[in-house]
Amino acid sequence: RQEQYAKLRDVPAISKDGVEIALHMNAGLAIDVPHVHDTGAQSIGLFRTELQFMLASRFPRMDEQYRFYKGVLDAVPNRPVTFRTLDIGSDKILPYMATIEEENPALGWRAIRIGLDRPGLLRMQIRAMLKAGAGRELRIMFPMIANVSEFEAAKAIALRELAHLRRHRYPEPLTLKLGAMVEVPSLLWELDLIAARADFLSVGSNDLVQYMYAADRDNTRVSKRYDNLSTPVLRALERVADAGRRARTPVTLCGEMGGRPLEALALIAIGYRSLSMAPAAIGPVKSMILNLDIDEAQVFLATLLASDDGAPSVREKLREYAVAR
Ligand code: PEP
Ligand code: MG
Repeated sequence: RQEQYAKLRDVPAISKDGVEIALHMNAGLAIDVPHVHDTGAQSIGLFRTELQFMLASRFPRMDEQYRFYKGVLDAVPNRPVTFRTLDIGSDKILPYMATIEEENPALGWRAIRIGLDRPGLLRMQIRAMLKAGAGRELRIMFPMIANVSEFEAAKAIALRELAHLRRHRYPEPLTLKLGAMVEVPSLLWELDLIAARADFLSVGSNDLVQYMYAADRDNTRVSKRYDNLSTPVLRALERVADAGRRARTPVTLCGEMGGRPLEALALIAIGYRSLSMAPAAIGPVKSMILNLDIDEAQVFLATLLASDDGAPSVREKLREYAVAR
């Protein structure tokens, strides 16, 4: 199997009816980065920067962060990297930061909420990224954006850092693209607004689904109870893809479901053309795509979603469909 997938490395992920799907890779540590080359991923679609912070024994200084981001970019000279700003809080604790007691950490002070309340940290991280991205196309995205104004505030911080770099005549990135993660359900009702303002959107389905079903993604007592392949989840995800298309804003999905072939099939059928996933998932997802007729899958899934039979998941029917191909 592994050998078979390795052979697919340079084969583009084009469906039987001729549609290309962009496959990107998720990473979080320097050792993940070389997988971009052995998987044939088009880019690093999600770089989770907090892992580096979690391994450190104190808050990394600007120059340390700069060296780290530069190292990542240097390891992938001809492909883009989408850095996500710190997504700490909840289950991602920094050992050197004072712990705060929160009743509901997943709903608490985390990710961009910390970034906006302590802008010094966010500014330092963005400055390090901008310097590391000198002469490159740089992509930065913000986690846990709950409304358009949070995105605007984060964007303003990034643009101020860019202006600072310019004023001091530092070399700057060739281009800077700023994106929002769609992973807090409130944003589902501001999709056209956010799609018009962000350079790109990236769907964090792990969190989006946890918040939609009010079920802790790490608590197996409840996390197994709800399925990603349910009508509500697929309808929500479809709205994001549609809004991206209307605004001509690129949309990628970077949650774990994009790396599972059956889920990826459903995502493509509801309109996704770009998925970012764990390195090991790229081969299996690509081989699914090579055997997929998107037009046909789209009609089949649309019928399932319209059937209104109250089933908690379309998984079984979709699997039967996929196996019969
Ligand atoms: C997500 O929420 O789907 C996501 C990609 O981010 P993380 O898993 O790091 O929260
Ligand atoms: Mg998330």
